[in-house]
Amino acid sequence: MDKEREQQFHVLFERYIEHMVRPDQFDRESFVAVLKELSEFFHLAKGTTEFYKNRMYEAAGEGEILSDYDNGNAGEIVFRKRLERPSGAVIIGTAWGEKDKPPLSEEEMKRLEMVEYSLLSFVSRNRLEKAIETLAFYDEYSYPNVRYFMRHLAMLQKTGKIRNKTAVALNLRHFSMINQQVGRELGDQVMRSYYEFLSMAVGEDGIVCRVGGDNFTMIFDKELTPQVEEILRGMPVVYDREKDRRIMVSASAGIFFVPDDPALQAPGEIMERIMVPMNFAKAGGEGAIVYFDAEMAAKKNKKNEIQTGFPEALKNREFHVYYQPKVDVRDGRIVGAEALCRWIRDGKVVSPADFIPALEEGGYICELDFYMLDSVCAMIAERIRQGKSVIRVSVNLSRKHLMDADLLGHLLKIIERYDIPRKYIEIELTETTTEVGFRGLKNVVAGLQEEGICTSVDDFGMGYSSLNLIREIPWDVLKVDRCFLPVDEFAEKSTTGLMYRHVVAMGRELGLECITEGVETRRQVELLRENECFIAQGYYFDKPLPFEEFEKKLDKGFYEI
Ligand code: C2E
Ligand code: MG
Ligand code: MG
Repeated sequence: MDKEREQQFHVLFERYIEHMVRPDQFDRESFVAVLKELSEFFHLAKGTTEFYKNRMYEAAGEGEILSDYDNGNAGEIVFRKRLERPSGAVIIGTAWGEKDKPPLSEEEMKRLEMVEYSLLSFVSRNRLEKAIETLAFYDEYSYPNVRYFMRHLAMLQKTGKIRNKTAVALNLRHFSMINQQVGRELGDQVMRSYYEFLSMAVGEDGIVCRVGGDNFTMIFDKELTPQVEEILRGMPVVYDREKDRRIMVSASAGIFFVPDDPALQAPGEIMERIMVPMNFAKAGGEGAIVYFDAEMAAKKNKKNEIQTGFPEALKNREFHVYYQPKVDVRDGRIVGAEALCRWIRDGKVVSPADFIPALEEGGYICELDFYMLDSVCAMIAERIRQGKSVIRVSVNLSRKHLMDADLLGHLLKIIERYDIPRKYIEIELTETTTEVGFRGLKNVVAGLQEEGICTSVDDFGMGYSSLNLIREIPWDVLKVDRCFLPVDEFAEKSTTGLMYRHVVAMGRELGLECITEGVETRRQVELLRENECFIAQGYYFDKPLPFEEFEKKLDKGFYEI
């Protein structure tokens, strides 16, 4: 850092620290202003601070995200730190660098860390004062809290009494509905009574703690497991003694039997092994109780691996764009292609089904999708430069993007960077089931259309397709899912065949371009023709191909049919 820049930093830093040492005179606006200046100083495009009351909230993704700065030009993450406070609160700071700016020097990185660290501790201190610090081991309803639980686990571990215990995390089922039904106040009583039942069932040595909302954790002697399970499966709770009114309460629970292996007896390990199955239970069917097992551990590990390995993998260009041609079944011409992602990891090709869900959950998918679009634009620009034929290529966007208020801006910026005609890009989006999702989808599609970018509804028919979805949203292309496509001649006369005919007819009537996915046989190609759906995508022509192979086909331009 040269002298002048050094000086500039000190002035900024001093102004910044000023805000923190006098919390009573804290002026948010001027603080945000200086944060912004600091961000510019370090070429940061975006910064977030995540706050979670404790690890359980962090695991469940329930926290607050404070984002004061985002200039819309975020490149890669340059800084990410996680702080766990003695109280259990977790603060995570993340900063994104400006795209196309050189990396910070080591010295500058140190300064940035200093700024970020002080911000994290400042935020946590402020939050804690408000939130939990005051009540150390009990919550506001005087239930023992998660700190109590963790302390108890640590004590059991230390004294060697943790063997032969059963640990449980549970979430009351439909508790918000119960609250609605009996009213908030009686709802609290219902929770309290259920808690008392559990407390009785876990015996003298067992404990039940409330980790927040309707989430609880327990640890108790293993032989008491059956009686605890009985309560978890459902228990009538009296909430109005006079009128003898009762309501059924049950829980989704994750159960872990603490083994002899000392490596699995640490509080953090136990916590993880009850939270994971509890989340499975919550996602699954009625009144589920799920036991932690090795398979689950492997799944969880794999997911973690994918999430933590992602930023590095992206940087190392391990993600590749494969192209699957879209073919006109009347003459075999290649009229388009879909860009599909492949992760080439240690020489092996990993399919999206194995990593997309983890990336969606970890919030990384948007970065990947932008990368895919970027790569596709680069490919198109290069072909234009070489004077070769160019076709429209579709890129998949995860539904996670719908939460991004500046999605359109991001997409346009990428396309503009390569200065290619917009008509060469198509955006594929899948259906949505919620009202909010529907509105988001509609805005995005309408916005894209206004900017001259083609949109398609992907996997139509897979989910809860509603006619509204295609009638009220201005799509250009209907991608009929392969579940509608009859597999053989026998099936053509079945419901599938009938539905296929109608879906295609309806799409056409609404003025949508129709394409059928998953076309695998000659007979299916004929079926497309018969139904006047003229574009096919599927293994019959080609699987998604690496670029070099795809380019050969594209240069030829058609398939013999
Ligand atoms: P999708 O967008 O519906 O893509 C079509 C999928 O069907 C591809 O699977 C393709 O390989 C497969 N397919 C094509 N023709 C046939 C066929 O004739 N028979 C059969 N059985 N399958 C066929 P893939 O590449 O494994 O991708 C799976 C899904 O992962 C995609 O479904 C898409 O939803 C998602 N995906 C892939 N790449 C990306 C990406 O870059 N971003 C996002 N957000 N999602 C992606
Ligand atoms: Mg697709
Ligand atoms: Mg599809």
